Amino acid sequence: MKIEKNTVVQFHYDLYDVADGKKIETTKDGDPVAFLFGHNNIIKGLEEAMADKATGDSFEIEVPPYKAYGLRHDNSEQRVPVKHLIIDKKTKLKPGMVVSIQTERGQKQATVKKAGKFNVDVDTNHPFAGKTLKFDVKVVDVREAAPEEISHGHAHGVGGHHH
Ligand code: ZN
Repeated sequence: MKIEKNTVVQFHYDLYDVADGKKIETTKDGDPVAFLFGHNNIIKGLEEAMADKATGDSFEIEVPPYKAYGLRHDNSEQRVPVKHLIIDKKTKLKPGMVVSIQTERGQKQATVKKAGKFNVDVDTNHPFAGKTLKFDVKVVDVREAAPEEISHGHAHGVGGHHH
């Protein structure tokens, strides 16, 4: 089946940082990712590249920062109380670790710069901000979305949202 608006796409990917060629993420050791196409659920550059693909297709796409996680901002370091982090209590915080922070405007990802006992210095740039990314994608499945998925604006089931 072809990918078009209101189809649910399942795909596997390897993600590379184009600058140094290093693999920074993969889904191939677990479930594929599922998303509802046409609802801005994945980064723009990847969704655009999916537009004319179908079940079984493989492709590579390079995505510049403005179609991925945006540019890296200066002055984005801040000190936050450890208790505002959404982490397992046993987690040992280390520089370079990506954590989620509870803020007044919802969850935000940040990278740990320096960890103390009660406070942690983080950089609130998305860890992939400023990076040109290369996705190596395999489209595993394409199906019609259920009316409920369209009204929620996201995919349900394997790789999608669970309620
Ligand atoms: Zn839902």
